[in-house]
Amino acid sequence: MKIPLAAPDISENEINAVVEVLRSPRLSLGPKLKEFEHSVAEYAGTKHAVAVNSGTSGLHLCVRALGLKAGDEVITTPFSFIASANVLLYEKALPVFVDIDLKTLNIDANKIEGAITAKTRAIVIVHVFGRPAPMREIMEIADRYNLKVIEDACEAIGAEYENRRAASIGDAGVFAFYPNKQITTGEGGMIVTNDDSIAEQAEMLRNQGRDASSEWFEHIELGYNYRLSDINCALGIEQLKRLEFILNQRESIARKYNARLLNNPHLILPDIDFSNGRNSWFVYVVRLKENFTRARRDSIVGEMIRAGIGCGRYFAPIHLQPFYVKTFGFKPGDFPVAEHAAERVIALPFFNRITNEQIEEVCATLEKLCNQQ
Ligand SMILES: *Cc1c(COP(=O)(O)O)cnc(C)c1O
Repeated sequence: MKIPLAAPDISENEINAVVEVLRSPRLSLGPKLKEFEHSVAEYAGTKHAVAVNSGTSGLHLCVRALGLKAGDEVITTPFSFIASANVLLYEKALPVFVDIDLKTLNIDANKIEGAITAKTRAIVIVHVFGRPAPMREIMEIADRYNLKVIEDACEAIGAEYENRRAASIGDAGVFAFYPNKQITTGEGGMIVTNDDSIAEQAEMLRNQGRDASSEWFEHIELGYNYRLSDINCALGIEQLKRLEFILNQRESIARKYNARLLNNPHLILPDIDFSNGRNSWFVYVVRLKENFTRARRDSIVGEMIRAGIGCGRYFAPIHLQPFYVKTFGFKPGDFPVAEHAAERVIALPFFNRITNEQIEEVCATLEKLCNQQ
């Protein structure tokens, strides 16, 4: 790809921090783990942070820590990365999808109550593309029906909703640090929570269900190896120090894209400024207008890629993924708003070091392809 869809941004300082761990005797469960956890908890504004080896592992441990199990229904969005629903299936809980709000691409809070049954136990909220979900409405519903709330903030570190950081509002939240995220540890994730019991459970389950107060080999629950090494944590500590700078840089790239594409009559552009929060820019996603079909979108994406410009179709709806169709019998039309969006979105190249010339090339190529009939 001449212009990739995403690219990590690693400084010399960060490389040195990793090398320093490699020269130390503690490569895992060492001082960098504690330091990374403390700094993320402080950043998120939560009492606890528990590092794990991926965002998916973090979400899974939240599901476990909240005791969600076979027969429990959990409300969530079909417009997300598949992990936010898969983690429920790991415990045989049932994802109950609720359609989205076309403006924000987040779950439509007005439709949540209609999906609640006697079996509903929790809501998994996803802050899609770093746009904070309407947590006030969601927490009100959760309180009224006594539901737990897990925030999938894997795309939203640094996002704010009514002056609180995403992931710190529900019972537990999760960040992810895969290389395409705002900050990376190579692979990695972090659970944040104010709940002592969730933090304790998560810490135990990530390390083979080991009781923290006992000897190494006392396993009191069915646990996992979801540990994050000190090598990864050293990278995370340094990346986190640059997070505010990175978020501002990404916002300014989004502004450049919006300014350049403003007069393109075929596109709906993402909001940058909204009254009750702050976006954390994970990806820059435009949407083709209604008259464009999915085939037309796919052909535009194909042409962009042929021209050396990395583009993505974020997201394909979860309910229409082959495994979900096969297992649950979902079909097109089940969640029409999510499907409408999914058929028309295009994620454009978006990374900290993208140049003005690259932005111009992306926009000019997209414009030309949109105009071809
Ligand atoms: C990236 C992501 C995850 C999971 O992250 P991994 O670290 O790749 O496991 C979960 N949910 C959403 C919405 C994501 O974008």
